[in-house]
Amino acid sequence: MSFENLGLSDKLLRAIADQGYDTPTPIQAEAIPAVLEQHDVLASAQTGTGKTASFTLPILHLLSTTSQPGKGRKVRALVLTPTRELAAQVEDSIKTYGKYMPLRVASVYGGVRMGPQIGRLRRGVDVLVATPGRLLDHISQGTVDLSFLDVLVLDEADRMLDMGFIHDIRKIIEHSSAERQTLLFSATFSRQIKRLADDLLRSPKVIEVARTNTVAENVTQVVHPVDRHRKRELLSHMIGSRNWQRVLVFTRTKHGANRLAEQLQSDGLSSDTIHGNKSQGARARALDAFKRGKVRVLVATDVAARGLDIDELPHVVNFDLPNVAEDYVHRIGRTGRAGNEGDAISLVCVDEHYLLRNIERLLKRDIPQSVIPGYEPDPSIAPEPIPGAKRPGNKQRRGGGRYQARNGNARRSDGYSRRPSRSKRGGKPTAAPILKKASNAAAGKDDRKRA
Ligand code: AMP
Repeated sequence: MSFENLGLSDKLLRAIADQGYDTPTPIQAEAIPAVLEQHDVLASAQTGTGKTASFTLPILHLLSTTSQPGKGRKVRALVLTPTRELAAQVEDSIKTYGKYMPLRVASVYGGVRMGPQIGRLRRGVDVLVATPGRLLDHISQGTVDLSFLDVLVLDEADRMLDMGFIHDIRKIIEHSSAERQTLLFSATFSRQIKRLADDLLRSPKVIEVARTNTVAENVTQVVHPVDRHRKRELLSHMIGSRNWQRVLVFTRTKHGANRLAEQLQSDGLSSDTIHGNKSQGARARALDAFKRGKVRVLVATDVAARGLDIDELPHVVNFDLPNVAEDYVHRIGRTGRAGNEGDAISLVCVDEHYLLRNIERLLKRDIPQSVIPGYEPDPSIAPEPIPGAKRPGNKQRRGGGRYQARNGNARRSDGYSRRPSRSKRGGKPTAAPILKKASNAAAGKDDRKRA
């Protein structure tokens, strides 16, 4: 299979050749013909599979071959993305693939001034990439017109739903042409995604290239059990002793990201953060410094890192495991891209055992564990609750997990009782399965192999 067989125009084939791609990825081989035939598409594809080109290339082809008399400043294709970073990246990809075409491409997202975006929209845009909130601002100010939209793409739709954009998306759709072609890309096919697809798509072609929730085979995964308060020390040790020059580290919270970056910085490791409390400019600067090798460690939260495409990122570290198992797949999908090898390392403390179990259940496999000598977990440390995390046997609730005093006992609003401390329970500590497995793994064996 080659790009020439897919029916794309010469201008696109030239741009593809400039990028050095010779073979379409599986999602491209399936999605490009379906989009060119003007089908609606429901595609499950992880980032790193070439999904951006799988919708961009055929859309550019369709836009350049269909004449649009009288459309003037009306937007013809709209790509909705969950984050500003992904919007900027998709815009770059569209410009790269469309460089031999006269199409006008722009992006609008929050965190930057409206004025320049309004000016850009006034001059006319064929392909617009947008985050939902800012696009709605433009719609309500009358600075964008979607009534002639030919194609709508919902990119990383699962993440947009997770981020609570569903109402914004539905409002945007009310303002767009009913005649449009709609493409929905999602890493996972949850029930909500299927419901959204039922509402928005007409007889879609369903494309599922990789099994949902799988991790690329070229990514090596490992869990290092470690105590909660020794994670930072272990991370510094690993970065220094293994001489990692570029590592993306995930934390659960923005505050945790800031604190960790400061600590690493004081350990002599140049670090920066990327999270939702930072201005767009600061996020872009941090990302740029990281890509250019000026910053060795980039500490990120899930939302900010979603969709980040960083060439040659050999190491991703989960400093905290994510509360939502699917995020693990997204996080470690930052490494092992475009056929490179990648390492995904998770530092897991006693609080996170059930999060690890959720992840392993999702992946349908156990992740190998190895204790780093000198960082053996202390089995007497009792687990502490993680705010907002899904408890075993309980349905997850948004923002849930708050404690309510009831009959003098700490109780969560979701019915989960806080485990009393061991001193109150009495009795000996029991080694949780993770620790048993870890000690079986002949402490440090894997680690030495890897060093
Ligand atoms: P995406 O999944 O869209 O984020 O793309 C992941 C990476 O794969 C990007 O860096 C693309 O430049 C690259 N890529 C996309 N299509 C191909 C292809 N057919 N051959 C090689 N690399 C590709």
